[in-house]
Amino acid sequence: MRIGHGFDAHRFGPGSHVVLGGVNIPHKRGIEAHSDGDVVLHALCDALLGAAGLGDIGQHFPDTDERYRGIDSRELLRQVVARLYEAALRIGNVDLTIVAQRPRLADHLPAMRANIAEDLQVEPARVNLKATTTERMGFVGREEGIATYAVALLVE
Ligand code: MG
Repeated sequence: MRIGHGFDAHRFGPGSHVVLGGVNIPHKRGIEAHSDGDVVLHALCDALLGAAGLGDIGQHFPDTDERYRGIDSRELLRQVVARLYEAALRIGNVDLTIVAQRPRLADHLPAMRANIAEDLQVEPARVNLKATTTERMGFVGREEGIATYAVALLVE
């Protein structure tokens, strides 16, 4: 078995929605990012790449590369998953904690779980998602941005 950890954070900017776990969530602000700014999927990609010993998302999809401007992060996740399967690795389970003061995410977790399970090509029971606030402490608490922690277990 191989374990990996991922973390990502993105700053809020102008906009009317955020994309988290491939789900479009209406909000009074957007996310500043080169891609669609999906911190959930970016942290997950890093956990998967970490478990596989394949570096990190920035090495595979550099933000200096115009091909990735505004890209749907589900496409990045699917490319990462393809590399895992090429390396004869299978996904045991993944667990993610989204840290956001706002927007409220509980209602959106089932749709995120379904998206991620589909992209990982696993049953939803292998994908767990949680959302928490920071009780108004720190950059998340000041509503400056959103962060996500992810862990992934791969099986050789
Ligand atoms: Mg990112």
